[in-house]
Amino acid sequence: MQPTDRIREDVRGFTPYAPGLSMEEIKERYGLSRVVKLASNENPLGASPLVKRVLGRKADMVFRYPRAGNPALTAALAAFHGVPQACVVAGNGSDEVIDLLVRLTCRPGRDNVVAFSPCFSIYVQQTKLCGVTLRQPSLGPDFAFDLPALAGACDDDTALVFLTNPDNPSGYAVPAEAVVALARSLPPRALLVVDEAYADFAEPAAEYSMLARFGECDNVVVLRTFSKLYGLAGLRLGFGVMPEWLADYMLRVRLPFSVNLLAEAAGLAALEDTAFVAASLETVHRGRARLAEGLAGLGCRVFPSQANFLMFEPPLAAAALFEALLRRGLIVRGLKSYGLPGMLRVSIGNDEENDLFLAAMKDICDHGV
Ligand SMILES: *Cc1c(COP(=O)(O)O)cnc(C)c1O
Repeated sequence: MQPTDRIREDVRGFTPYAPGLSMEEIKERYGLSRVVKLASNENPLGASPLVKRVLGRKADMVFRYPRAGNPALTAALAAFHGVPQACVVAGNGSDEVIDLLVRLTCRPGRDNVVAFSPCFSIYVQQTKLCGVTLRQPSLGPDFAFDLPALAGACDDDTALVFLTNPDNPSGYAVPAEAVVALARSLPPRALLVVDEAYADFAEPAAEYSMLARFGECDNVVVLRTFSKLYGLAGLRLGFGVMPEWLADYMLRVRLPFSVNLLAEAAGLAALEDTAFVAASLETVHRGRARLAEGLAGLGCRVFPSQANFLMFEPPLAAAALFEALLRRGLIVRGLKSYGLPGMLRVSIGNDEENDLFLAAMKDICDHGV
């Protein structure tokens, strides 16, 4: 017997989630003093000053357990988004809510989940871990959503349909109206999970988000995160808005303290700091237009994006360009793990970071890798 024979067979082929490279790693590898990370779609302005003050004050309390179910946070989220509190479940990142959705609704070996190919890797990992088949219709030309194909891949054993809107890594998005129509076209058992990690960055955001239309559908779950717009990726906080019966079961199975005391306090403060949110959005919108124009000017094929990143096909080999950027201290995201080896994704940075990125791109395009 091999020691690893003890590991379930479905799990043996697993590879770890491929995150953006860390800044420390790149500093060491290339002997750089400054590294700019535009790889993980984090907030270009950092964390809110109000959040930082609240975290300092809360430090005294970390010997206490948080309240199970995080009622203060779910109440604030419900009020903020105009949905019933009983429909809101907070998680250790929206990743945790994705994991719980799969484990709550999918019968291993029997049910299926549907998502476009390529899709966010957490959908792939968690379904595999659960022994559930993932059906993946292709995206349409230019990464557009082929919604009829998504509905067409469903049958009576489809437990979940994941739709990332705006999509990662392309930035493509459809208005909420199209999502409502998709929800209505699914077989009765299937739940539509709309992952809106980037919905705040769409213009106009209200036209794209399902939260305002949550009451219109009884088979929709909306996922949101504090990792992107709110600048709390390192604290791990996300939430789902879902039918009350589902939220009830999710709270029964969720580990009681998965959302920690500091994350809850930070989330509450982040909702209050409307000035920081407005500045973040303004920075992303401005930077997105500037980067799109700059990249196109360098001969890249840039895909229109409603998110806080841009996907582009460079005029030279993406892998070589990726390495050349790294040597200059710029970390972007290669998309080989998404099955898109010719593409790169760059997160919108602050003005200075965007300038450094475009200058490095120009240098590489002019003089070669
Ligand atoms: C970043 C991202 C999330 C957020 O994950 P967290 O666990 O909340 O940090 C969710 N879905 C997609 C598609 C993402 O890109």
